[in-house]
Amino acid sequence: MEDQWRRETKPIDFEGGIFMPYSWTVGRVGSRFFIELRDNGRIMASACRKCKDIWVPPRMRCPVCFSEIDEDAWVEIGPEGTLRHYTVVRYDHKAQPIKPPFAYAIIDLDGATRGFTHLVYGTELEDLKSGTRLKPVFALDPQGNILDIEYFTPVGGQGG
Ligand SMILES: [Zn+2]
Repeated sequence: MEDQWRRETKPIDFEGGIFMPYSWTVGRVGSRFFIELRDNGRIMASACRKCKDIWVPPRMRCPVCFSEIDEDAWVEIGPEGTLRHYTVVRYDHKAQPIKPPFAYAIIDLDGATRGFTHLVYGTELEDLKSGTRLKPVFALDPQGNILDIEYFTPVGGQGG
């Protein structure tokens, strides 16, 4: 009976959305990272003593060798960096942090060995290329989150 119904009936699709506000702690490491960013405009990274990788945002434990990273092994990096990879966003959606067009990018901040994901904006995106030097634009009213860096933009203006 049920199989016959499945064969003969096209199910009705319902399109909807779920509004689901939530919050969670960013923990000791995340809190220190965001406080440094918010209060001092400093981008901090954690340096693994064993494999020498320098992670941004900082990690409590090295994702490569799983060694615990002591907080006195933190270093200030950047604030400038080099564009490694990017993708341009032209689709406007309320989930986007800023109005398109902009780019999501992996940026090699000076002093880090691992890429940092952030936004590139304020330039002709067609002129971007891997290797473009970037600088952060800090928020005027920092809140203690990743958008205390509003976005990165080419050093020296358009096209880098
Ligand atoms: Zn390591």
